Amino acid sequence: MVEIKNLSKKYGDKLAVDSISFTVKQGEILGFLGPNGAGKSTTMNILTGYLSATSGEVSIDGYDILDNPVEAKKRIGYLPEHPPLYMDMTVWEYLDFVYDLKKVTEDREAHLDSICETVKLTDVKDRLIANLSKGYKQRVGLAQALIGNPEVLILDEPTVGLDPKQIIEIRSVIKQLGRDHTVILSSHILQEVNAICERVIIINKGRLVASDTPENLGKSISNENKFQLRVAGDERSILDVLEPVAGIQYIKSLGRKEAGSIDFIIEAAPNVDVRTPIFNALAAASLPILSLQTMDLSLEEIFLEVTKGQAVAEAGEVDEDEIELVNMPAAAAAVKEAAEKEEEGADLHDSNL
Ligand code: ADP
Ligand code: MG
Repeated sequence: MVEIKNLSKKYGDKLAVDSISFTVKQGEILGFLGPNGAGKSTTMNILTGYLSATSGEVSIDGYDILDNPVEAKKRIGYLPEHPPLYMDMTVWEYLDFVYDLKKVTEDREAHLDSICETVKLTDVKDRLIANLSKGYKQRVGLAQALIGNPEVLILDEPTVGLDPKQIIEIRSVIKQLGRDHTVILSSHILQEVNAICERVIIINKGRLVASDTPENLGKSISNENKFQLRVAGDERSILDVLEPVAGIQYIKSLGRKEAGSIDFIIEAAPNVDVRTPIFNALAAASLPILSLQTMDLSLEEIFLEVTKGQAVAEAGEVDEDEIELVNMPAAAAAVKEAAEKEEEGADLHDSNL
């Protein structure tokens, strides 16, 4: 079990982690979700004993990370944001080296072999790390975390920078590891923690703003009021038909994404389903709907949502520039991109996942 109590960290005057408390039960996969700069890496560095806290306590299986660092660290496998790999070693040489560093007592060959099997590195174990793809390098990072059989795995944004295929592979390895490990995984991608984790903690600006199952979080933040609509016809005629539709609160034109049609973002009043009225109105005007899809909330909107009404969270402070919107569902990403490139008339294209 991992216990964090009132953890704070200041860098100079800057409070990067602000009195965070949470516990992770044995065998649990916990998602640590937050935008860039939220304080995820700082918290993880403190959990693993790489950084000292300004105040607060961390214990792993009852061992305090400050009072009993050797016992506490023995129980932790850490994959940092930038794994410390030696490029001029082969995979096996590197794992062998880490084995010595960690002073592991298990049979060397058997232990390293079984780790290579688990993270699917066996085929490349004699290759130089420098020559591996980013996805394989990340597996080497995972492998070093597993050396010594630590019970708790702390993985800092393990899928960042990987291509979609590599992301799927790494996620599946992590899920598998979750069967017999306690896992804390950080991410700034909601879909990722939804896909892997049993419980999610959201931090923003160093503060804990939500803690729940992905299902419950999803329920509280699901969004059925925002759509992306593509209609064949010219913009003015379409707007003339849409504007009078009862229940529509906001319409934004995204311009031409497909020849002969215009894309719009539509926002409806809460609890009003405007899809049928939109269909009927456009059909009556012989303006065919080419597509209509619900838009998922962006991470930044989710933060605003979960921090709504929480005095402690200061939702109004969320600075859009600080939040990197990556790997949202394709539609939302495409819309954001389109909105940004509107003037240039850039085409929609798929995001990477
Ligand atoms: P995350 O991992 O969620 O992106 P970090 O823990 O890396 O966030 O950073 C939290 C905040 O602390 C950020 O505002 C960041 O700029 C700041 N920060 C991180 N590391 C340092 C450091 N070594 N010195 C000063 N400020 C830092
Ligand atoms: Mg980080």
